[in-house]
Amino acid sequence: MRLEEREQLQSELNAEQFRRGLISLALIALVLLLQSAPAFAWGNEGHVAINRVAAQKIPATMPQFLRRAVVEIAYLGPEPDRWRSPSEFALKNAQEPDHFIDLERVSWLDPLPAGRYEFYRKLYEKRAATSAADHPDDYLPERVGLQPYITMEVYGRLKAAFREYRQRVAAHQPTQAVQQAIIFYAGWLGHYVADGSQPLHTTIQYNGWVGPNPHGYTTQRGIHAQFETAYVAANITAKDFAGLVKNPERLEDPFARYIGYLRQSNDLVDNVYELEKAGGLTGKGTPAAFDFTTRRLAAGSQMLLNLWYTAWLESAAPVPEHASPPSATAPPTN
Ligand SMILES: [Zn+2]
Repeated sequence: MRLEEREQLQSELNAEQFRRGLISLALIALVLLLQSAPAFAWGNEGHVAINRVAAQKIPATMPQFLRRAVVEIAYLGPEPDRWRSPSEFALKNAQEPDHFIDLERVSWLDPLPAGRYEFYRKLYEKRAATSAADHPDDYLPERVGLQPYITMEVYGRLKAAFREYRQRVAAHQPTQAVQQAIIFYAGWLGHYVADGSQPLHTTIQYNGWVGPNPHGYTTQRGIHAQFETAYVAANITAKDFAGLVKNPERLEDPFARYIGYLRQSNDLVDNVYELEKAGGLTGKGTPAAFDFTTRRLAAGSQMLLNLWYTAWLESAAPVPEHASPPSATAPPTN
């Protein structure tokens, strides 16, 4: 609204009408702000807690420096959410699809390919075969989300760093620099694994129900932040779910297990909406909301601990001299 229009409006309204107008404008601004707010899975508190609980459970068979890095690993839980500022546009733009995957959009692609470029290729083929009326751009990789790919890529970085650490220990070389790299990769990995345990990070229903709605779930935007940020910050701390996290398990096929973990999360999307409908995510919530949310947070810590443990064990294996590419469409390596 331009200044002269505002002055004219002011002169036309009496004091009461003007006050009501201001309240309406403030409400509109608030709604716009909520709609444009990016999805910060689990909020700051949830991410710190998931990383902290996993770090506290690192077994004695893993390196001692990592077991002592609880404070650093906890700090790194929200790290990728610090990469969302418009002041670093290229970074914000490139990494935002890393936090989610809309599994409903790739139900036709089973199993998911192991590498991100094969995934891109399949999505672009699907997009090309989709009629204009069926929203072909919904199959753009950045719209579908890349969550399992960034997760496995950071997992790979961690495993490679563990291998380097082992080699340096064996050669009696200093390890301080590689220790720092390992702590960073372990903490960074925690962010995406935690995102994956939040059902609303695996679905097209990520912030208000869309499409057929037989159960009458909320269609309002806001459930995403209400669940993962407001409800968690007000009601749950690390100690509430630490006891649910068990000793780590070695994962025979980390990518397949991780996809299974995301699908399990996706199976629980309705539960989040049910809890919201029953008022479980408002204020102090309900016992059902507490039980559900602590289990999801624990699932995140458990998968993170399992991946750290598996990366450590797998890093002991020698690197094959001539690894065959996983597919004929692998990009050139230069
Ligand atoms: Zn995230």
